[in-house]
Amino acid sequence: MFLFRNSYNNRKAASFFNQHRLFQSSLSQDFSNKAGILQKNTLLEQNGMKKYDHTGIETDHTSQNELWFLFRGETLFLQTQENSVTIPTSSALKQFNLPFEEKQHIGKHDSKNCFILNLPKTMELPALPKDMNFYPLREAHVLLAEKSIFSMLLKAIQISFWDKKTQFCGSCGTKTSLDGKMMAKACSDCGSLTFAQFSPAMLVLIWRNDEILLARSHTFPPGRYNILAGFVEPGETVEETVVREVKEEVGIEIKNLRYVASQPWPFPSNLMFGFTAEHAAGNICIDQEELDDAQWFSIDNLPSLPHSVSLSRQMVDAHIASRKKMNIQTSEWPLLKSISPKTPFLRRTTITALAATGLLMAGFWKPMKDYVQSYIEDQPKNRP
Ligand SMILES: [Zn+2]
Repeated sequence: MFLFRNSYNNRKAASFFNQHRLFQSSLSQDFSNKAGILQKNTLLEQNGMKKYDHTGIETDHTSQNELWFLFRGETLFLQTQENSVTIPTSSALKQFNLPFEEKQHIGKHDSKNCFILNLPKTMELPALPKDMNFYPLREAHVLLAEKSIFSMLLKAIQISFWDKKTQFCGSCGTKTSLDGKMMAKACSDCGSLTFAQFSPAMLVLIWRNDEILLARSHTFPPGRYNILAGFVEPGETVEETVVREVKEEVGIEIKNLRYVASQPWPFPSNLMFGFTAEHAAGNICIDQEELDDAQWFSIDNLPSLPHSVSLSRQMVDAHIASRKKMNIQTSEWPLLKSISPKTPFLRRTTITALAATGLLMAGFWKPMKDYVQSYIEDQPKNRP
């Protein structure tokens, strides 16, 4: 299979009908490299589909061909080069006395081996050069969002989080160690393996004509809204999660649920599944413990939304672009719009009926014309 990048404009112009009438897999063309999903340079390519080998790779501390994701608490070490931040190489870090032997190899990026290293929160570093600093993870996530290293960053943050959380065996409490071949922590006492873990969660963009439902949680910055989100519970399919969360959080019924795309979300370790759904019934009635507010917003008058690095924002942008495109097409048919302005089904039926009538007319026009002509021509002869 060959996968290619799409331009941002192509994504923005994603067909509304494609989004809402057809099932879409994560291989949708509408959501590609922005979400780190379909980059030509995928993690699969970077890892070369080899077995995981995170402990057997030797490092060369003078090399420019090794990239280090250096975490300390909730921050990541970045280097500034030509007004842009980047992941530092081994040679840039050799001036610091770091415990490199505690590294994990996480794959390759552009033929460069990538490692992560979790530094203790309290670890003191010598005065840092002007071009190097620790950045909060969310800031680093945004700063690197447009770069090819982005998908490796998502992987690095999630493995870093998993590494910190699995220092001891969950069954017997013994100190764990990295398994040599798998992405797992092994317990030497009880033999249990703890694999990398993440939590599945759903995002759903609910629409009603030219409106979308947006909500804000108590933790959002002032004025910020987003589409609904929620974690999958044990025993649920993601589709069931969507229906349950929507009912619990805003009290409405939905229909026409469609899968759109997925996105790793490393805060701390989630995998988001994006859906669209149409409002079916009910008025908004929010769960006040979960939400601060929820409203229907016109697509022409939206509040502050999350950064475009997030799948939720990309879904909103794609939906609005598609809806506006459809409205322009529909506005070319004012008569049809006035017949059924709020009923897409009736509008489609009317268009189909008119088209069918046109085709029939075209097909029968000549025989009818010939018949009428021959009738007229025959008239005088038939007269007494
Ligand atoms: Zn154990």
